[in-house]
Amino acid sequence: AVAMTATMAACGNAEKTADKEAASGGDNTGALVGITMPTRSSERWIHDGDNLKSQLEGLGYKVDLQYAENDIPTQTQQLDSQITKGAKLLIIASIDGEAITSQLENAASAGIKVIAYDRLIRKSPNVDYYATFDNFKVGVQQATSLLTGLKVLKADGSDAGLKGPLNVELFAGSPDDNNATFFFNGAMSILQPYIEKGTIVIKSGQKDFATVATLRWDPETAQKRMENILTSTYKGGAKVDGVLSPYDGISIGILSALKSAGYGTGSAYPIVSGQDAELASVKSIIAGEQYSTIYKDTRQLAKTTGEMADAVLKGQTPATNNTKDYDNGNKVVPAQLLESLIITKDNYQKELVDSGYYKADQLK
Ligand code: BGC
Repeated sequence: AVAMTATMAACGNAEKTADKEAASGGDNTGALVGITMPTRSSERWIHDGDNLKSQLEGLGYKVDLQYAENDIPTQTQQLDSQITKGAKLLIIASIDGEAITSQLENAASAGIKVIAYDRLIRKSPNVDYYATFDNFKVGVQQATSLLTGLKVLKADGSDAGLKGPLNVELFAGSPDDNNATFFFNGAMSILQPYIEKGTIVIKSGQKDFATVATLRWDPETAQKRMENILTSTYKGGAKVDGVLSPYDGISIGILSALKSAGYGTGSAYPIVSGQDAELASVKSIIAGEQYSTIYKDTRQLAKTTGEMADAVLKGQTPATNNTKDYDNGNKVVPAQLLESLIITKDNYQKELVDSGYYKADQLK
């Protein structure tokens, strides 16, 4: 009886394995995975690419990692080439979330699975999973840190009872990146009540997403817009108290515009938020210029995505923790969301250095 049970169990396992292989189009051991990242011009994507590559190689896969320097045709070409090279899975951090539909169609007809990495791919049915951070919450954290820096909120998050009015300007990310809207909406969910009460005034009057968005997250574009605001709205001597910035590169652009206008020498800089905990911005935070950033541990995202990729390639269903918020205009993409953290001068040491994300001497 014992022998029979063992045989039956073995037989059952064999069937299960066969099913899984059928679902994923065969045995994907050592398969090629194509990774496409938007740009090397921001450190975070270099960390993402490196971490993801070593994670997948550690799981025995071959990896083709490409960067497109924010050029859409380059990214579509890279995807075409990964499909031609026989990749079994594509992990894509898109530049324009709607510009790769035909590549995804080709991938789907070749049985290639697709994971959207960090940024949602929009308007396509051919996106299987999404690995990212809780993007709405990132925006909430950006605005919360702005209000804490402005002393509208106390450190414990409670209202400090400040009347204002404080002059704040708003910046958002790239309009073709789905995340930018999530960050902005998250931030505005926190700021709006204070705008309505008059504690905060958006002095330039530039409030809606389309007006405050920054194509391709470009620091120079943001710097120019800040310069224009300073010479128009603030020429009479009014002071900027705070700036909502969605990304560290943009924060640096904003801070240089402020510096040219005389802030920072004699008077303090306005409270400026950020995102990604990039080296230059962490240094700027330590120097008392930028106020905050949002730390997204790209090691964690790489790990999660690697596990997701491995499950998909084995024909299994990967873990997801959100199946409602990421509607790409065609379907709701099942997502695994990670948590981010506000960083200021007070906690960078603990969160970024003690955690091993950066070495102390990188921040000198
Ligand atoms: C990412 C952010 C990053 C921005 C600019 C977004 O899609 O989620 O972390 O700051 O792109 O690179």
